Amino acid sequence: RGRLYIVATPIGHLGDLSFRALAVLRQVDWIAAEDTRHTGKLLSHYGISLRKQIAHHEHNWREQLPFLLTQLETERAAIALVCDAGTPLIADPGSQLVREAIQRKIPVVSVPGACAAIAALTVSGLLGEPRDRQPGAGTWEELLGNSFAFYGFLPHRLSGHGRWRQQRTRLVEAIIREARYRPVILYEAPHRLLETLHELVATEKRLIVSTDAEAEPIRICMARELTKLHEEIFRGLLVEALGHVEQQGSRGEYCLVLGPPVRQPGASDSRPLDSNGEPSANAM
Ligand code: SAM
Repeated sequence: RGRLYIVATPIGHLGDLSFRALAVLRQVDWIAAEDTRHTGKLLSHYGISLRKQIAHHEHNWREQLPFLLTQLETERAAIALVCDAGTPLIADPGSQLVREAIQRKIPVVSVPGACAAIAALTVSGLLGEPRDRQPGAGTWEELLGNSFAFYGFLPHRLSGHGRWRQQRTRLVEAIIREARYRPVILYEAPHRLLETLHELVATEKRLIVSTDAEAEPIRICMARELTKLHEEIFRGLLVEALGHVEQQGSRGEYCLVLGPPVRQPGASDSRPLDSNGEPSANAM
């Protein structure tokens, strides 16, 4: 029986390919790549044959599944799944292939490495320290201190079937609420960044007004072009991020991390948890 390797590749800096990823890419029979020209550059850089690439992307993965599964099952092939940048399956295709392989008892092996969401999160300054996770112990923030949420891309026109706008509004509201107690990570395309920031600012304002809460504003870390030449990390409030992008424009790749407001020492959210595990009085 074959093996399916889930191989992370760099999100910019070519030096971020792990030694093990390199060895696996050299050794496998097939490399299932989102964009064979793009991955071809990485393979050429490391002197790996381009001939073993097969295209596996959001438009053709259904058609490619039977071939890949036959290779794994019948031909006992070793296949590496890669995406354009970072970790496959994270806002990228591959989940169905992994599920089908597991069903057929084909070993699925992780070769971990770069992921834009995790890279941005760890430099955001918005993640809390790990805490004791005993239920009922401590405050809501202590309990969730080291947790975070990842939403990938927000739904936009192209992905919706008419209802995308309504769904998006609900989602953005939920995200703003969630970011009050733990970091929330989003991906955004440069040409939609400004519109998304406007929406985040407007939604936060609306929520604060509607609940009459004396809420401090949430924070944002905008990580642009991580590990690349023009890497830039902007940290501030949502309105400040909006102002920054209005002034500088948006170029390159962005990962957004929204997170809890700065709280004065002693003024932290010390609400006890109720029986449902929710903070007993939910502001906003
Ligand atoms: N699977 C990838 C991963 O592990 O990060 C993410 C793929 S998703 C299709 C691409 C999005 O990831 C980009 O639109 C951007 O939001 C984010 N991204 C990728 N590389 C980045 C980088 N170097 N800096 C900031 N964000 C990046």
